[in-house]
Amino acid sequence: MSTTSAFETDIVIIGAGPVGLFAVFQAGMLGMRCTVVDALDAPGGQCSALYPEKPIYDIPGYPRIEAQALIDRLAEQAAPFDPDHRLGRQVSALTQGDDGRWTVATSAGDRITARAVIVAAGCGAFGPNRPPLAGIEAFEDGRSVHYYVRRREDYRGRRIVIAGGGDSAVDWALSLAEVAASVAVVHRRDRFRAAPESERQLKALAAAGRIDLVVPYQLDALEGQGGQLQAVIVRDLDGNARQLDADILLPFFGLAMTLGPIADFGLNLDRNHITVAPATMATSAPGVFAIGDIATYPGKLKLILTGFAEAAAAAHAIHPLVHPGQALHFEYSTTRGLPDKR
Ligand code: FAD
Repeated sequence: MSTTSAFETDIVIIGAGPVGLFAVFQAGMLGMRCTVVDALDAPGGQCSALYPEKPIYDIPGYPRIEAQALIDRLAEQAAPFDPDHRLGRQVSALTQGDDGRWTVATSAGDRITARAVIVAAGCGAFGPNRPPLAGIEAFEDGRSVHYYVRRREDYRGRRIVIAGGGDSAVDWALSLAEVAASVAVVHRRDRFRAAPESERQLKALAAAGRIDLVVPYQLDALEGQGGQLQAVIVRDLDGNARQLDADILLPFFGLAMTLGPIADFGLNLDRNHITVAPATMATSAPGVFAIGDIATYPGKLKLILTGFAEAAAAAHAIHPLVHPGQALHFEYSTTRGLPDKR
């Protein structure tokens, strides 16, 4: 699965988020093979990396589905088409040969050639905004400073400090208060940028003594040994310090979104997004398409369901590139059915 090599396929999909995964299915239904490359070690994009246990309510047909469960369903839906996943490697370059085909180079040394490329790279190489605390790297080896919560159970009985004032900080404070030994929420203001009902619940738990609301304070320093956190030092605007005993710090300061190498692909961009023709999802480079969060056009809605429709549009637009001269008759999946194995 994750070997280094030079090979050909029909379509290279950059990004194994929900939209990239659905593109595998759409392409497969039209008889096209896909290789999917992702910088992360597991498929799922933002859903798996940022909010796997959060319920999503606006996926058609699922009144409520947890983000990781949606990814599992999408992988199951794509499975009949045997997608080739190249994970844990970043796409570092995209070049076009004299014959019009594209070659995608990865940080692991792969060179994958294809008639078409679908960029489904979300917000690009996304990563958390890290607080500027001296020596924080020493605590980031998985033991003490976490930027994502993957499994709530891992926090049972732990002393947790959450920093931030947005939805993630507030939602995780509410959730982890049910399992943690203690939860402190550090925010530089006493008002939060979260859903009003969540903020109300947070303040109710604080009043009941189940969450320590540390406001208005900011992170100042970390104390611990050998990568294990023991306390978080916070300071208010007057410089008064408080020590919060803690095993784990969860800084939720949002995501840094950088296109990374995608910015150098030579595609037309608009404020860190790739501009596309909405009917086909074609970018400014012939044979290169963009779908999902990374693609933009007037009126774009950054939703998973929008990305699904874009995947279908791109697959239909790519078909003549992969199968030139072959007529494509539009068919419903109920008519076409699933192949045993294409
Ligand atoms: P992503 O999920 O961002 O996946 C892109 C993938 O591309 C990533 O895995 C990344 O590693 C990879 N990548 C990027 N650059 C490279 C590169 N150079 N090489 C290799 N790989 C690369 N949307 C909804 O519709 N409903 C909701 O309820 C909802 N709730 C949300 C809650 C939270 C907390 C968050 C953060 C988002 C939520 N969203 C929701 C938004 C939704 O998650 C995104 O719209 C969706 O993930 C976009 O999917 P995508 O496949 O386009 O990109």
